Amino acid sequence: MSTGTISYKKELTIKDQFDVVVVGSGPAGVCAAVSAARMGARTALVERYGVLGGNLTVGAVAPILGSVSKGTMRDELLERLGVPGCDRVGATHQCHDFEKAKRVLVDFVHEAGVTIYLQTPVVDVIMDGDRVDGVVISTKTGLKVLRAKAFVDASGDGDVAYYAGAEYQMGREGDSLVQPVTLMFTVQGVEEDALKCIGEIDYVQYKGERFLDYTTRLCNEGHLPPNAASVRLFGTLIPGERLVNTTQANGIFAVNSEDVAKAEIDLRAQIDKVVEFLRKFVDGYQNCYVKSTAETLGVRETRRFIGEYILEDNDLRNGRRFEDVVVHKASFLVDIHNPTGSGQAEEVEEDVVPYDIPLRCLIPKRIDGLVLSGRCISGTHRAHASYRVMSICMAIGEASGVAAALAALKGINPREVDYKEVQKVLLDRGVDLFD
Ligand SMILES: Cc1cc2nc3c(=O)[nH]c(=O)nc-3n(C[C@H](O)[C@H](O)[C@H](O)COP(=O)(O)OP(=O)(O)OC[C@H]3O[C@@H](n4cnc5c(N)ncnc54)[C@H](O)[C@@H]3O)c2cc1C
Repeated sequence: MSTGTISYKKELTIKDQFDVVVVGSGPAGVCAAVSAARMGARTALVERYGVLGGNLTVGAVAPILGSVSKGTMRDELLERLGVPGCDRVGATHQCHDFEKAKRVLVDFVHEAGVTIYLQTPVVDVIMDGDRVDGVVISTKTGLKVLRAKAFVDASGDGDVAYYAGAEYQMGREGDSLVQPVTLMFTVQGVEEDALKCIGEIDYVQYKGERFLDYTTRLCNEGHLPPNAASVRLFGTLIPGERLVNTTQANGIFAVNSEDVAKAEIDLRAQIDKVVEFLRKFVDGYQNCYVKSTAETLGVRETRRFIGEYILEDNDLRNGRRFEDVVVHKASFLVDIHNPTGSGQAEEVEEDVVPYDIPLRCLIPKRIDGLVLSGRCISGTHRAHASYRVMSICMAIGEASGVAAALAALKGINPREVDYKEVQKVLLDRGVDLFD
């Protein structure tokens, strides 16, 4: 067997040409696609799985955390999903229904007239100099190209930007380590008044001690998988059910296929041990059983692309305002799951002063024809740990869709779009952008 490189040349069919192509249909991507389509841009949404939603559905991630100013698509989506949203940790954590979300998102995107490509991974880009001219999609009838006047990268990992050669950072500024990955699952058969809590962040007491101290002690005694000391248990809309955010693998770089396979396998194997723990050590859980598991590994952190501005820790600390604001009053604490062990990375999770995200964080340096969206936008490791939550990603998505549509409809590059025009569209939609 030999490794090395091999050259590969192929004529590809251009399958279609759009004004805007959005890659990835998580909270950011669905909002980006609807946002662009509502501006009259012919828009496609391209998703590697068979279901829209990213972590909101196939990742089984809930509740929808964080907040932004009033009037964004986040408000509309929460209403469609029938949940209030949780502005802060410690509020009533109400999980949305993942099955309902799968249908709601399709309706949301369809009604806007977006063309949906499912089970269609983007595997490369076609460049015209420094401009993204097309994305290469993998289909059962071979590789094809979707062209567009502007692209939105809402793939979480920033695959389009990566294939285009955009500069990025990964992990902590000092040692490049990223937050751990988790496979979410739900259990049924829990007594209704049994514990609901979110582990380390709130200070739930249990049997005379903090629940986290209790679970950490038992984890250290081998009753939980290593590093899985934070037992976060969320009530859902279904009686007797809890969403469990506990399995954990550290040192996984989820853009490496070997790491992904290892984590998917290891985390699935952790579930039985966590259930055994719940049955044995948490009152009211003695009859619980696994009802469902996420279709895919939940990835908190991979690439953050360098944009025209890098959102900094101090911007969150000081609630900074920007002239080119496109997301206003984003708010969620700096939630860093420990890259090297269990629990949180920082003793006290720093709260933020509701901050702005400027359009420049969505524009990658050097690469044209592309707008960044969702968790791969330009910011530091700590800033990312706040804006990565789903409410904020939805608002980023909406803004990225406006910027891409304006670029496409005017025949200019996203970096040439006047931020005042993006703001005007958002303001006309009723989004609060200024104090
Ligand atoms: C375990 C875990 C728990 C979390 N807990 C919470 C929580 O309680 N509340 C909260 O608000 N947030 C939580 N988060 C954070 C939040 O879920 C994510 O940061 C958020 O979903 C990011 O949104 P996104 O749209 O940028 O990316 P994603 O939700 O990751 O969506 C990206 C989409 O792009 C698709 N995609 C990727 N690559 C390609 C490709 N090459 N071609 C085509 N499609 C592609 C993916 O399939 C996916 O649908 C959690 C995250 C994890 C992992």
